[in-house]
Amino acid sequence: MTNTHTGPRLRMPQRVAAALACPVCGLALARDANGLTCPARHGFNVAREGYAGLLTGATPPGTGDSKEMVTDRQRFQTAGHYDPIGRALAQALADPGADPLIVDVGGGTGHYLAQVLEALPTAVGLTTDVSKFAARKAAKAHPRAGAVTADSWRALPLVPGTVDAVLNVFAPRNAAEFHRVLAPSGTLLVVTPEPDHLAELRTALGLLDVDPRKEERLAQSLHTHFTPTQARPVRFEMDLPHPDALTVVGMGPSARHITPEDLAERVAALPDPVRVTASVRLGAYRPLPQSA
Ligand SMILES: [Zn+2]
Repeated sequence: MTNTHTGPRLRMPQRVAAALACPVCGLALARDANGLTCPARHGFNVAREGYAGLLTGATPPGTGDSKEMVTDRQRFQTAGHYDPIGRALAQALADPGADPLIVDVGGGTGHYLAQVLEALPTAVGLTTDVSKFAARKAAKAHPRAGAVTADSWRALPLVPGTVDAVLNVFAPRNAAEFHRVLAPSGTLLVVTPEPDHLAELRTALGLLDVDPRKEERLAQSLHTHFTPTQARPVRFEMDLPHPDALTVVGMGPSARHITPEDLAERVAALPDPVRVTASVRLGAYRPLPQSA
């Protein structure tokens, strides 16, 4: 590797950078003076904040989190409200092998990944997210992690078989891509809401219920590529100040039918802080052997 490039520095361990692949053709990406380039000469920029911009094609407006949403979520996460989820993820990966690469797909600000890396001293990580505002934060979330912008519904910009664990927390699931990038011995961890997740807010604010068939749908979306190995509930209470209650509602799809003004009014009528139950399911999966 030469060190002659002059653009912004790619903030990620070499082991992570070596796993990056061109989102157009799938060939490995290498650093050069202009950013990242594949052997077929598809080029990508490295942003000033140190993440790689690997989105391809047009991204419809409104895709991904806005700057304000990312700021709100970071405040919520820094307050530690969802930390039991990060701890459960780390426990599930207690023995990930030597120098594992962990990728949080649709990982937002990189908060969960940072928690997992803190618990696994030899692990390195990458956060992918469609939002550049999230990627700016994720690039700096942990010294052993990097970030790229990428669309979970397209090809993940990773060399096949290079990833030891994929994290998928309240994020879009692309089973075929998860399977392609995971090593045969790798693990997929999926966090999904249970029917009683945020139950107090659902009742008080008139939010939509969690789809009771969610677990069935999850199994259906994964079964062609993965087999479940374990699942555990993660359930805990949070005392949320009103701004954090609004943020956690906005983090799910359940508030889209209520105007922000109505929502703020209904939250204002609640105790401050308001006690809310978080209830999620953490499922672990192994990749099925590739069919011949
Ligand atoms: Zn390429």
